[in-house]
Amino acid sequence: MEAAKTHHAHYSFFHGVERNFDKAAKYTRFESGILEQIKACNSVYRMKYPVRIGDNIEVIEAYRVQHSHHKLPCKGGIRYSMDVNQDEVMALASLMTYKCAIVNVPFGGAKGGIKIDPKKYTPFELEKITRRYASELVKKNFIGPGIDVPAPDYGTGAREMSWIVDTYASLKPGEVDALACVTGKPVTQGGVRGRTEATGLGVYYGIRELCHIAEDMKKIGLTTGIEGKKVIIQGLGNVGYHAAKYFFDNGAIVVGLSEYEGGIYNEKGLDIYKVVEFRKATGSILNYEGATNFKNGADILEQECDILIPAALENVINGSNAIRIKAKIIGEAANGPLTPEADEILDRKGVIVVPDMYLNAGGVTVSYFEWLKNLSHVRFGRMDKRFSENQNTFLLKSVEDLTGKRVTDIEREQLLHGPDEVDLVYSGLEDTMISSYHEIRDAWMSHKGTVDMRTAAFTVAINKVGVSYEELGIFP
Ligand code: GLU
Repeated sequence: MEAAKTHHAHYSFFHGVERNFDKAAKYTRFESGILEQIKACNSVYRMKYPVRIGDNIEVIEAYRVQHSHHKLPCKGGIRYSMDVNQDEVMALASLMTYKCAIVNVPFGGAKGGIKIDPKKYTPFELEKITRRYASELVKKNFIGPGIDVPAPDYGTGAREMSWIVDTYASLKPGEVDALACVTGKPVTQGGVRGRTEATGLGVYYGIRELCHIAEDMKKIGLTTGIEGKKVIIQGLGNVGYHAAKYFFDNGAIVVGLSEYEGGIYNEKGLDIYKVVEFRKATGSILNYEGATNFKNGADILEQECDILIPAALENVINGSNAIRIKAKIIGEAANGPLTPEADEILDRKGVIVVPDMYLNAGGVTVSYFEWLKNLSHVRFGRMDKRFSENQNTFLLKSVEDLTGKRVTDIEREQLLHGPDEVDLVYSGLEDTMISSYHEIRDAWMSHKGTVDMRTAAFTVAINKVGVSYEELGIFP
């Protein structure tokens, strides 16, 4: 992965997104001014601030980019990585706009980044870096429930979000909706159940929907269903790990996995739970029993499989390795894992690429649910869980009385169960991933195979954002 990156030192991620946008824009009806406005990053905030680390002062470089204000708040994660730069944050922010549009989440796109290697700092130091970042955002009005709502991304998680919400709340005393200033929080700090695994689960739901459709599977020589499909997953972070679990639990054969230290492959399948345990014990996935090692993790991408899930960083499949990809389906769990050159090569090979702006939108979808929960100040299910259970009990009793038969205990439990928060979150996520898939597929089919799925997804997104800009009106 690192090797692939240095190889393409001059690659502009933002320019890549623009190229993909332009490819799709010609299929839409909007005038060039509207298209230019959709494409542009509205606000770019670059900050430098000092943090004392040990005996030294370190100057921290950080960003927040708001790509689009066509709907507010803006939404998008915060990434901690040494690869953070303005071009990358701009690209990721723009993808957020299209992503939100595709899954009908009423937000504009944004992204943040801090150029640090989080592994090099203690939790105390990370807390100082994060809290100062949050207060810089407050100072410039770049954060708030109705302004811009960050979330986790590569290198961050619930812990960082809880520092951010605490900093925000203490700078805005009495703001009743303060919890809604950031999502991906721990459940005890206003988070919603199901957010952690949401992106990985969304990836699974999206690929499952693709694999449901016999007509599309036939074109790439596969049968329907997830069961028995060979899957390779690059990256075992929050997204890759959870995606791998859902594929494994639902009968897919996880043949390949990779992380920083390298990759492992076994055509008979790997038990994701055991691999993760093994990595915890030994510090590496390499030398896992029965598997072949790949010293360079990127090599795992080129191994035999049906479904390839890049779940790490951008630019991992590009003009130099795309030709060697053997998968029939690529599911972009990461943001921007394929360059436009890779798209062209893979399209010619007949590979179906399920684009990031749809496939990894489960995270922001459940972030939207969390934001709604925070603004409503009530847990999902609190009002209706017991009511549903009482209704179900009454209904089941009536059926049993009328038929003179009784259901089994397991059936009883399932029939009576009223929805908990996590049930509602999963159901909202599943419905979103399925209906958005069909919006994209309809656009894809309307072009009769002349465009790839990314272009179809872009047209869906551009149409929604374009209409929104038109209806906002352009000020004189
Ligand atoms: N960082 C995630 C993404 O790239 C989630 C963003 C959010 O929940 O706002 O989509």
